[in-house]
Amino acid sequence: MMKTEKLYYSDSHLTAFSARVLRCDSLEDGRFAVVLDRTAFFPEGGGQLADTGTIGEVRVLDVHEKKGEILHYLASALPEQAEVHCVLDREQRLRRMQNHSGEHVFSGLVHSTYGYDNVGFHMGETCMTIDFSGELTWEQVLSIEHRANKIVRENRPIRTSFPPPEELASLDYRSKLELTENVRIVEIEGVDRCACCAPHVSFTGEIGIIKALSCERHRGGVRIEVVCGMDALENFNARQQSVTEISNLLSAKRGEVSAAVEHLLAERDELKFALTAAERRLTAALADAVPETDGNLLFLNFAAVPLNSSAGTQRAADPNSAGILKSDVAQRELVNLLVPKCSCMAAVFAGSDETGYRYVIGSANTDLRAKAKEINAALSGRGGGRPEMIMGSCTAPASVIREFFRSAV
Ligand SMILES: [Zn+2]
Repeated sequence: MMKTEKLYYSDSHLTAFSARVLRCDSLEDGRFAVVLDRTAFFPEGGGQLADTGTIGEVRVLDVHEKKGEILHYLASALPEQAEVHCVLDREQRLRRMQNHSGEHVFSGLVHSTYGYDNVGFHMGETCMTIDFSGELTWEQVLSIEHRANKIVRENRPIRTSFPPPEELASLDYRSKLELTENVRIVEIEGVDRCACCAPHVSFTGEIGIIKALSCERHRGGVRIEVVCGMDALENFNARQQSVTEISNLLSAKRGEVSAAVEHLLAERDELKFALTAAERRLTAALADAVPETDGNLLFLNFAAVPLNSSAGTQRAADPNSAGILKSDVAQRELVNLLVPKCSCMAAVFAGSDETGYRYVIGSANTDLRAKAKEINAALSGRGGGRPEMIMGSCTAPASVIREFFRSAV
């Protein structure tokens, strides 16, 4: 086993360094595992992802600590014993430290105020989630957030140490594991002490801002979304952009978009109500114009289709009624009004030969549930319902639909 000096522990802000390649193993998956004599690349751990960057000119894809060795996974090989220049993806590392240190401040305050433990921590690409063992209201979350940001402003030092076992035994700190040796303690002065293996910022001021985004019940406790530092700025910008777009669309001031949306919804409800009333009047007028018929009645796009053989295949749809009447409700309502006017089936089809048709068929004296199979087979359709009304869709063209209802009994 080759021991690597962990530069990320002595200086968490070191993002460029030189090192020597101690070993380079070729792996079965085509990658190479490189061990260096010293590294600033943090291997995944403590909820923080592995650093990426370059060693020599080669991309570092991932870093893991296995059996005490820090393995850098590379796309191509490096000569053993070579002196190499290494560069971390600096912005990514700094952002992760902002988030992780912010998480410690937040979790530390929740623990000291409410006694809840951080029982789950996930650092994603755009924000992180923290799970706590007890429930918090949004007001409580905001109060923690407020205090957390005061601690940021106070720019308190963040110190790390490996206390010897006897000192550790008498130390009060948060921890997920019951370790007694090689425990690294991250201490935020006067706020929190927590066992953690990840690199942190040196002062709370570097965190920039700690912002809670949401709080949801989760496994007997809560899951809180938190975002810190530059990620918080990006998050704010995305929200700002979205609100600006909404305010432009609604011609409302940015601070008044929710009132504008409420107004819009109320207006929509009124229009829906008016449309339903108009549909009712229109379907009634359409039905009134149809004479009592011995046989079937067929409407295509809300226009009556003559079913006597001498007429053309389809009368052009009335643009007014076809344009206004779109809903399934209107289709059903028209069928209900037409049923008493015919001795067999009243059928209302809406759609086109290209897209297919939605249908509603009603009858006072034919069991349509029993007849549905025959209708669907003839019209390449699917659907069903009650003996007095069936609904569905079909792909048959208008000419076939008309032919079917001309002769069906
Ligand atoms: Zn941590």
